[in-house]
Amino acid sequence: MIIGIDDTDSNEGMCTTYLGALLLEELQEYGTVEALPLLVRLNPTIPYKTRGNAAVALKLKTACPERVIAHVTSRIEELARMECEKTNPGAVFIQEKDYENLKSVLMSFLEEAVKEVIEIEKAKNLIAELGIISRSFKNGRGLIGALAACGAMLNPEGWDCTFEHLAYRQKEKWGTPRDVDKESFFEADRQTYPETWDTVDLTNRLVVCVPHSADPVLFGIRGESPEIVNKAAALIRAEPVERFTVYRTNQGTDMHLLTAQKIAEIRDMHSYRLESTVSAVPKTIEGGHVIFAVRDLEEGEIDCAAFEPTKNFRSLIRKLVPGDRVVLSGSVTTGTLNIEKIEIKALAPLYTEENPKCPECGKHMKSAGQGQGFRCKKCRTQAQSLLKIRCEAERDLEPGLYEVPPCARRHLAKPLAREKHLDIRLYPAR
Ligand code: ATP
Repeated sequence: MIIGIDDTDSNEGMCTTYLGALLLEELQEYGTVEALPLLVRLNPTIPYKTRGNAAVALKLKTACPERVIAHVTSRIEELARMECEKTNPGAVFIQEKDYENLKSVLMSFLEEAVKEVIEIEKAKNLIAELGIISRSFKNGRGLIGALAACGAMLNPEGWDCTFEHLAYRQKEKWGTPRDVDKESFFEADRQTYPETWDTVDLTNRLVVCVPHSADPVLFGIRGESPEIVNKAAALIRAEPVERFTVYRTNQGTDMHLLTAQKIAEIRDMHSYRLESTVSAVPKTIEGGHVIFAVRDLEEGEIDCAAFEPTKNFRSLIRKLVPGDRVVLSGSVTTGTLNIEKIEIKALAPLYTEENPKCPECGKHMKSAGQGQGFRCKKCRTQAQSLLKIRCEAERDLEPGLYEVPPCARRHLAKPLAREKHLDIRLYPAR
């Protein structure tokens, strides 16, 4: 049986991955766990999300499905933060006899949940049409993520994957500051990067894999294999861990990106890869956000942003000039593309204006007064033209692929540490 669960937490506590970790242990009473649990990240722009729009799926070989369903349902009732308006749990249960039948339809549903916006009715109708067992609470929005997570479990070869070692805190510590030895995270990174990533942010001297919210997670180490995330986790010195789970995930895969053929087709609440040309000089606005516009051949135009949390990435963006060819990756909300990565494909020439040089001494001449051209005071020479000279300036920017620093990474964005086969210069942020 495959069990998909979503939407059990609130900002004040809990985490659907923690419920998954508990169930993974508890359900062994009813059968044998058949695969690593899954943690799927869905459309990152969905406003109903608590934090990272995650859903989980477990796979269990069992001879008593009814007892499994009853157990999962009662644990959701006990642990979900039902009092929170945004918490609308959903669970779905796929029986083994239906695996083949449901594989392709639920895989498509996963793709849609990662890239598009889905109505709750669509999930409910699909459940009814396909005769899937489900349990839902309040408005049942969690059924969307629960179905999508089952789609991922049914088709493990159908999507790129990474792994995360999630360590959970002892219950009495929930809501208190986390007691961790920061230096041990830097050491774990030194020993396992680039096979692990986003443990720390070296440039900004931050530990980024330890959350600050009231949820049960102590830290999460992301990487290419279960072995490497476990190796990094073993190097961490911190308060006692209640339990840990290694999840297989779609984090760090760019699964959310659609390819935009033109700007006119771009919609809010979707994420894109877009090739275009910079059309306005980047401006720093209040709050430190850097905004500029890009245009395509059909004259479509969209604002792009490197927001303040992207820190040092903004100084790269400020170097862009109109005419630069770029490929941007990022999510669109309120008409602005929030940049996750930028490939600089071709740099436009940048011109500056200078005073002409003296033919005698070679130094720049000075203005001779308004409308009177230029002259060299020392040699007493006079420029023939009244105009300044246009010169091509050197660009302080190299073509290649750049990304936001680890402290600003979105869960689904593929870090450049994972790009092994691209034929372009990579500038991984560390
Ligand atoms: P949790 O740990 O509880 O999963 P979260 O930050 O992952 O927290 P949720 O509380 O799950 O966020 O809230 C996200 C809600 O949005 C869920 O009900 C989920 O089913 C729903 N959802 C996910 N993807 C989509 C989508 N593409 N379209 C519409 N709704 C979605």
